[in-house]
Amino acid sequence: MPKDLLKTVFGHDHYRDGQSEIVNAIISGKDVLAIMPTGGGKSLCFQLPALTLKGIVLVVSPLIALMRDQVSALKALGVNAGALTSGNTNDETETVFNDLENGNLKLLYIAPERLANIGTQRMLSKLPISFIAVDEAHCVSQWGHDFRPDYLRIGELRKLLNVPLAAFTATADPETQNEIKDRLFDINNPEVFLQGFDRPNIHMSFSVKASPRKQVLDFVERRKGQSGIIYCGSRAKCETIAQALRSSGHQALHYHAGMDAEDRRISERRFQLEDGLIVVATIAFGMGIDKPDIRYVIHADLPKSIEGYYQEIGRAGRDGEPAETMTLYGADDIRLRRSQIDEGLASNDRKKADHGRLNALLGLAEARRCRRRVLLRYFGDDIETCNNCDLCDAPPILFDGTKHVRMALSAILRTEERYGAGYLIDILRGKLTDKIKQNGHEQLPTFSIGEDYSKSEWQGVFRQMMGYDLIRPDIERFGAFRMTEMARPILRDEQKIELRKDTIIKEVRKTKVKSLVAEEDETLFSALKSKRRFLAEALNAPAYVVFADAVLMEMARSRPSSLDEFSKLSGVGAVKLERYGKAFLEVINNNFQELHPSRRRLAGKEAGKIFDQLQAMQLELMHGAYGHDKPLVCSASVLAKIAAVKPRDMEALKGLLGDKKTERFGVAFLKILLD
Ligand code: ADP
Ligand code: ZN
Repeated sequence: MPKDLLKTVFGHDHYRDGQSEIVNAIISGKDVLAIMPTGGGKSLCFQLPALTLKGIVLVVSPLIALMRDQVSALKALGVNAGALTSGNTNDETETVFNDLENGNLKLLYIAPERLANIGTQRMLSKLPISFIAVDEAHCVSQWGHDFRPDYLRIGELRKLLNVPLAAFTATADPETQNEIKDRLFDINNPEVFLQGFDRPNIHMSFSVKASPRKQVLDFVERRKGQSGIIYCGSRAKCETIAQALRSSGHQALHYHAGMDAEDRRISERRFQLEDGLIVVATIAFGMGIDKPDIRYVIHADLPKSIEGYYQEIGRAGRDGEPAETMTLYGADDIRLRRSQIDEGLASNDRKKADHGRLNALLGLAEARRCRRRVLLRYFGDDIETCNNCDLCDAPPILFDGTKHVRMALSAILRTEERYGAGYLIDILRGKLTDKIKQNGHEQLPTFSIGEDYSKSEWQGVFRQMMGYDLIRPDIERFGAFRMTEMARPILRDEQKIELRKDTIIKEVRKTKVKSLVAEEDETLFSALKSKRRFLAEALNAPAYVVFADAVLMEMARSRPSSLDEFSKLSGVGAVKLERYGKAFLEVINNNFQELHPSRRRLAGKEAGKIFDQLQAMQLELMHGAYGHDKPLVCSASVLAKIAAVKPRDMEALKGLLGDKKTERFGVAFLKILLD
C-alpha cells in the first residue's frame, strides 16, 4: 500500500536506501531518529506515512521559505498541506484553519517559534495528530552552529500531545545524535536509522591554487547555465568574483553576512526559484537553501574543517543526478586557517581539536589515492575506490620525498625557526639575496643543497609539509615555520614520506564537460525547462515543484508521445500527469518531433547547429531574462536566415530581427554567432 503511493502520488519507481524501513517504522507507530545524508530523501519518509495514517502529521522545520516550498510541492502532488508561519498572509492562515476544521489537511508545517505560544499549544492539542516530524533535528543541539532555542520546546510538545516523534538530520557526529535523543525523546529510546554518508553522485576534486580567479571562471564557463554555489573566504572576494562572472555573461549574485537581512532573503529566494543562477557566498549561505538541482559547488578558498567541507559540497546534487565539486587550496589558505584557530578565543583543548579537524581536511587535500575513501573513512565508512573523484580519474605521480623534506627541515632548524617559505626556498636554491648576505646564511651547509628543484616545486614541498602538519606557521613570529613533533622521525631518518608530483608540476587539463543530456536532446531539454519555468512562476514556487531536472531529462531522452507513455516516466505521479502532462507533451510533439522545413534545409551544415543554438536561446529568453515579460518568438525562417548569414554585429542583426526582438535576443544571439 505505501509502496503504491510512492508511484501514484510521488511518481517514484523505487525507494531510496533506508526510506522503506523508516516509512514502515513510522507507520507502525515507533519513535524514529533517522540520520540520512543530504539529498537522501528525508521528506518522503514523513510525507508518505502522512497519507496512510489517520489524522494530521505535524512537521516542525526551521525555515519559513523552505516550509512554503514543501507545501507547494505537496500541493502540486495533490496532497493537501498547509503551513502556519509568520510569513503567511491572513488569507493563507484562514485557509489553513478552515482545512483543519474540515479535516482536509494531511500535513501541517509549523515554525518552531510558534510553539512558544500557549494558544498554539492548545490548538494543537485539540487536533488529531498522528505523529510529529522534526526536520533538521540537529537544531536542538546547543553546540552546533544551527541552534534554534525554540527547538527545545518540541520535547514538551511531544509529551503534551503524547504521539510518536520522527526526527531527521544529516548531521553525522555522535555527540549531536545523543543530544537529539536527550532533548526530543526524553527517556524514550527511538529506533535509529543511520544511512551511510556517501553521496556517490557528487564528483570530488581538489586543485592547487594557481590563478584562482581564472580557475573558477574556467570551471563555470564550461558549465554555463547550470546552478552552482561558489564559496569564498571573504566578503570582498564574493563580490569581485560575482562581478567577474557577470561580466563573462553568467547570472551571478553575491551573498554574505555583511548584507542586510532583506537583501539576503531576496538572494536566497532568487536562487531557489530561478534556473541557472550562481551564488558566490561566504559560508553564511546554505542553511536556507533546499534546492535539489545545484549542479556544482566550488570552494575558491579552503574550508575550515572536513565537516564543513562535507556539509558544503553536500548541497550539490540532492536530486541524485551527477554533480561536481572543486576545492582550491594553497599554502596561504593553510596559513590563514591555522592562524584563525591560534588567534581564536577558544580553550587550548578546543584549539587542538580544531587543528585536528583542519589536519583531516588537509589530509584529504593532499590525498594520494581515492579521495572519497579518505573522506568516508574519516566518518567511519569504508569503500575501496569510487571512480568518481579526481584521483580515481587520474592517479597522481608519487615520489619518495624524504630527502626533500629533510632538506627543508634542516633549513628551518638552522635558521632557528625564524623564517617563512620564501626565504627558506631562497636558501635551499642558493639564491644570494641581500637579506641572506646580511644574515650570513650563505655560509650554512644547507645553502644551495636544493638547487636542482624549481621554486614552485619547493613551494609544493612546503605546502605538503604543512598539509601533513610537519611544520606550522607561528603567528607570534609572523608566520615563521616551526617544526612539529610529527616531523621528528623524518628528520632522524626513521620514517619515509611520499609526496605527490602532480601538485608540484602544474597541469592544465581542458576537458569538455558532459552536458546533462545528449547533444541531440539539448534543444528539447531547454524548451522543456522554459515550459517548466513558466508553470512554476504561476505557482510562485521553485521549478522542481513542477518537475525535477531528472524528469525533464528523461522526457527529452524518451520523448513520450501520449499521456500513457508520459505516465511511465519516473517522477510523474497521477496528479502531475493530469496537471502538466498535456502541456509538456505539446512541447515535445509540436516543436520537436518534426524539424521545421527551414531547419531541415540546414541539416548537416554548420548553420544547422547555429540554428539549434539560436532556437534554444530564444526559448530561454522567450519571457525575458527573468521570465516575467510578454512572450516573444522569432519564426523558424528568420532563425534560419540568421544562421546562414551570420551577422557579426548588432546593426546587421537588427536588420534581420527588427528593434524589439533585437532588444530581447540581440546580445545572446550575437554571442552565439561570434563564438
Ligand atoms: P533531504 O531532505 O534528505 O536532503 P529531500 O527530501 O529534499 O532530501 O529529497 C531530495 C530529492 O530526492 C528530491 O528532489 C526528491 O524528490 C527526491 N527523491 C526522494 N525520494 C526519492 C525516490 N524514492 N526516488 C527518486 N527521487 C526521490
Ligand atoms: Zn575516488
